[in-house]
Amino acid sequence: MRPLKGEDNCRLVRFVSRAPVQSRDPEPKQSGGKRLHMELSVSRHPIPYHLPIDSDGFKHIVTDGSIATKQLLVFLSHDVYDFIRNQSREYSPQEIGGVLLGQYCIDNDTRFLIVPTAVACDLGSATPVSIQFPPEFWQRVEEVHTSEFPGLLRIGPYHSHPGYGIHPSGTDRTTILNAFSKPHHISLIYDPHSDQIGFTCWDDGVLKTPSGCFIYEHKQPEDLVRQLMDARPE
Ligand SMILES: [Zn+2]
Repeated sequence: MRPLKGEDNCRLVRFVSRAPVQSRDPEPKQSGGKRLHMELSVSRHPIPYHLPIDSDGFKHIVTDGSIATKQLLVFLSHDVYDFIRNQSREYSPQEIGGVLLGQYCIDNDTRFLIVPTAVACDLGSATPVSIQFPPEFWQRVEEVHTSEFPGLLRIGPYHSHPGYGIHPSGTDRTTILNAFSKPHHISLIYDPHSDQIGFTCWDDGVLKTPSGCFIYEHKQPEDLVRQLMDARPE
């Protein structure tokens, strides 16, 4: 595990080593995989929640990239945004990646995600053109998610494309994107060379073209996480 410059400043991003996790579970990979499959195969209903744009508590909401209309909107915390950008630049030309945790919401007819936190994976041996999350990473995500962020959802993966844009590759489509294909799922890609970020989501089995995100700062980020967790009782 290498030290990360952005890590100290980002209390809400957990960094996970590739090293196998010690566990008393006799079949940690298998059971983790089963739980992951169950988690990802469930379609979630959006919970009623005020759009951040209209809400007290949020400040400095900006956009990065052009926002696609008539589809899911994504509000990404400044902490997570900074972490992904810093980590992507530091590791380039290797890819980095992880999983976003957040809440799936609706305000009138507008569906949106608020993403206050993420679990980063040390992909030290990733090739420049693809990523694969090892089983022990998913096990750690399960542990962090259930112990620290119950009520949030695994929104989808993020990863970097050092120098080749924000469109998912063919490999991305057939691997990681297929695992996150429900209406509340996204895949976020950042290119540290062009400093571009974009997310894709599925619409009736069709992968939408990448859209930009809203980046927010919140006056009390820990309180926001608590509210978002409580909004979806298990
Ligand atoms: Zn990719």
